Amino acid sequence: MGKKKKSTSSAGWSGDPSELLRVGPDFDLASFDRAGTPGWEGDKDAGEQFMAQRGEELSDLQERLFADGRSGGTRSVLLLLQGIDTAGKGGIVRHVIGMVDPQGVALASFGVPTAEEREHHHLWRIRKELPEPGKIGVFDRSHYEQVLVVKVDELEPADVNETRYDECVEFDRTIVESGTTLIKVAMMVSHAEQGERLQERLERPDKWWKYNPGDVDVREEWDDYQAAYAEMLARTSVPEAPWYVIPADRKWYARLAVTELLHGALTDLDLGWPAADFDPKVELERLAGTSRA
Ligand code: AMP
Ligand code: MG
Repeated sequence: MGKKKKSTSSAGWSGDPSELLRVGPDFDLASFDRAGTPGWEGDKDAGEQFMAQRGEELSDLQERLFADGRSGGTRSVLLLLQGIDTAGKGGIVRHVIGMVDPQGVALASFGVPTAEEREHHHLWRIRKELPEPGKIGVFDRSHYEQVLVVKVDELEPADVNETRYDECVEFDRTIVESGTTLIKVAMMVSHAEQGERLQERLERPDKWWKYNPGDVDVREEWDDYQAAYAEMLARTSVPEAPWYVIPADRKWYARLAVTELLHGALTDLDLGWPAADFDPKVELERLAGTSRA
């Protein structure tokens, strides 16, 4: 750690994923190629190699963030992951976040709200999990389920649900204003690929734990979910808190792209190492004086 400081060039990327994958006003989910590899010219092997190298840099950057937090800094990063079952959210946690020191990571997964959570406003459980200074927070699902599953399954009245878009964006703004770099990622898998991944989960005993019969119910609502995602992206991607849509049919590309987004966000923080609050020379002399020989 801390040795290699160069090679932050974007060799391997012909374009910056934070530009190419960002959702702007012209984004069209229906025509979005979920097997694409925007900005990456190389093949899978080159991608995996590049990702490993970025991982070392990411680890160094993350340590700087952690050190900064320990020294009174206020910055943090939040990687928010959305995507239907099998889109690969778990793979991002394991393979991308897995490249950095777990001490600096705060992971929160949001499932069906518990009885206690249901007694509170939907942001209550989310707010509690926001990352402290120095941390990389990871949300496996998020407050955006309020305009996805809650909308599709009509779990609250339509007029109330309609207010959630602005509410989520306002919440994102408070996150950003508090000093957190927010990276909102929507992983989009194709219908065919999702079918294959669910089939694999059903055919392999070591994957049964990941399967839930409800996954097929959600698949049956495919069009409704796609419409909900499209609306979410159109209404909640704002310049201060944009969405990045990741083509997720090729797992290696999705992981490479999210690695790059995280790497870019941490690089932009431009954190040095905190100054010592002691005199290193004096301490070295004191240490030398402890010799017993
Ligand atoms: P998994 O990510 O596979 O563990 O599944 C979590 C489940 O929780 C998914 O089916 C989500 O749709 C569901 N879920 C997450 N947030 C909410 C919410 N606010 N209301 C209802 N269901 C939710
Ligand atoms: Mg699931």
